[in-house]
Amino acid sequence: MPLRAILDNQELFAPFISDKEWEELKQKKVRVILPCCEAKGYLRISKQGIKHFVHKKKDGCNYKSETWQHLLCKTEIAIACKAMGYEVKTEARGVHWRADVLATKHIKNQLVKLTFEVQWSPQTLE
Ligand SMILES: [Zn+2]
Repeated sequence: MPLRAILDNQELFAPFISDKEWEELKQKKVRVILPCCEAKGYLRISKQGIKHFVHKKKDGCNYKSETWQHLLCKTEIAIACKAMGYEVKTEARGVHWRADVLATKHIKNQLVKLTFEVQWSPQTLE
């Protein structure tokens, strides 16, 4: 479930939208486009209270559904990176890579790029 969408031609990230703004966007019924496939979407809040975007129809999109834990991890990473002064993009893609969260910042004239890929699966201690 993406955290990033295009709302009325503006790229927005669900974790950075206040509760008040979120409600206003829902009321206004803004046009939501999901960047993964450019399909129409809508705003939703999970049972755990995590804001995100959802496909209206998932025809032809290979965006895999995510657990709420995965969604929560992406949200928390994005919020933490933004608080540290990074520019944040979720569900970022390049030619041969993708990241759940991409955080960039100039530090002493050097561009620092941090990528995060969340894996949520059971593992043993070993
Ligand atoms: Zn899609």
